[in-house]
Amino acid sequence: APAPGTNPLAHSIPPQQEKVSDEVAPFVGAKLFEQLPISNRTKRSLADAKFINMTAIQRAALPHALCGRDVLGAAKTGSGKTLAFLIPVVEKLYRLQWGSMDGVGAIIISPTRELAVQIFEELRKVGKHHNLSGGLLIGGRKDIDSEKGRVNRLNILVCTPGRLLQHMDETPNFDCTQLQVLVLDEADRILDMGFANTLNAIVTQLPKQRQTLLFSATQTKSVKDLARLSLKDPEYLAVHAESA
Ligand code: ADP
Ligand code: MG
Repeated sequence: APAPGTNPLAHSIPPQQEKVSDEVAPFVGAKLFEQLPISNRTKRSLADAKFINMTAIQRAALPHALCGRDVLGAAKTGSGKTLAFLIPVVEKLYRLQWGSMDGVGAIIISPTRELAVQIFEELRKVGKHHNLSGGLLIGGRKDIDSEKGRVNRLNILVCTPGRLLQHMDETPNFDCTQLQVLVLDEADRILDMGFANTLNAIVTQLPKQRQTLLFSATQTKSVKDLARLSLKDPEYLAVHAESA
């Protein structure tokens, strides 16, 4: 390829395409999970759950997220956003050999307990052939038993915002300093429910050297404001209703 600035057609390339790195490019047209640069463990887990063809938001987001980019992904409810963030979370921790370690490597924030439980069930499927550990931090009966210090030993925490902040502020030895990936799921709903300040308090306590994936059904101004606060040079991906 010609050096930057020497391509006479460069000005006509839309910014979105111009940003696709050489690392991401080979996977941009992929339609099957099988074609992605992911571990055989994840491929087997997806196949066992009968996940074969990617949805539009998965095709759009996974090549970027798997290369470590921050992503803001917008697509309607039911379009498969959960796998678009769970696969990169599991892959990153697997590549870093997190499964043989104790500690919080990824935090997934969901607006409600019910959605957190659904994410956790999907995580069980994606993580089936991995040895990563995970738990729910949502209050109530399904909450991790933090008395025994387990919170700190788990690799992937699926949380509601209030409960997570409470642990950050009150649980002795709650340690997020090694965090690799932060996921904000249903960000529009998190904000609609009045959790903006809680989210800010959480994000300011997390290491800045991390990957952040933000998913939302809608792209409101408050979602974009949150993205500015929490994402670094993100890939903006909006999948429209017809193709989602
Ligand atoms: P969203 O978060 O965008 O509302 P979900 O991630 O909850 O959507 O996915 C909706 C449903 O579609 C779930 O039951 C999920 O298991 C299923 N699903 C997601 N991706 C795929 C896929 N690639 N192939 C088949 N089913 C899928
Ligand atoms: Mg969802």
